[in-house]
Amino acid sequence: MHSTELVLLGTAGGPTPKRNRSAPAQAIVVGDRTYLIDAGNGVARQLVAADIPLRSLTAACVTHHHSDHNVDLGTVVHLAWCADLRQPVRLYGPPPLTEMMAAFARYADTDVTTRIADEGRPDFAELIVPEDVHGPGPVYEDDRVRISATRVHHPPMDALAYRIDTEDRSIVISGDTAPCQQLVDLATGADVLVHEVMHVPSIEPLLARTNGARLRRHLLDSHTSVSEVGAIAESAGVPTLVLSHFVPSHPEVPDDIWREEAQRDYTGKVIVGQDLMSL
Ligand SMILES: [Zn+2]
Ligand SMILES: [Zn+2]
Repeated sequence: MHSTELVLLGTAGGPTPKRNRSAPAQAIVVGDRTYLIDAGNGVARQLVAADIPLRSLTAACVTHHHSDHNVDLGTVVHLAWCADLRQPVRLYGPPPLTEMMAAFARYADTDVTTRIADEGRPDFAELIVPEDVHGPGPVYEDDRVRISATRVHHPPMDALAYRIDTEDRSIVISGDTAPCQQLVDLATGADVLVHEVMHVPSIEPLLARTNGARLRRHLLDSHTSVSEVGAIAESAGVPTLVLSHFVPSHPEVPDDIWREEAQRDYTGKVIVGQDLMSL
């Protein structure tokens, strides 16, 4: 049996690069295979920093098509191909994922055709196998993992949360969502819930700009306050809650504040996520 490791590759939230945290991505490592949930900017570099071989990439799922979650999906497979990837990588996400990956293949084509001719590399097109996820239910299965999805509430996006079940663990990644019953149902019986969090009093300075009112409404309607996340984990009965996708990521809110707010309505263990944390 392979033991399952969860690695937080990036724990920031939002589209701009941050000094202190990388963009959203989680690796689930089972023996010599890596399964990725979300692929924010810099995910390939974060895999290398975590000592996870790029060529171990087996499947990657994006929760939704906000750029902080998807921008390096094609890139991480492309760079894994440069790092001697041999097996096809299955890619999953809401539509139009397959169209987006076809567009990415065109974007990468000059490099790919040059390296195939010049360096004798295998065909890239055969190693990238995208599929649109249309609804809740099973997404991917092999002899080590089962990945399933549910639809969560992140308007106006079509957004998914994923659950990864292995022989020894069951891990749920919320993606971006306001509190919703579907996420509680998906996380029920899981060992670990990785959930996005937002500290509302600290986002006010971010909103002192021209689109402040619109952005504020999006954040409140489509995300989860850290004061709400404990009750979600408690309802699901999940013993470990890992906080991630911190908004704001910068300026930093002290770990103790995140922990105390999340713990208020929760009897399990709260972990304040950090980049490259292995759990
Ligand atoms: Zn996000
Ligand atoms: Zn989002």
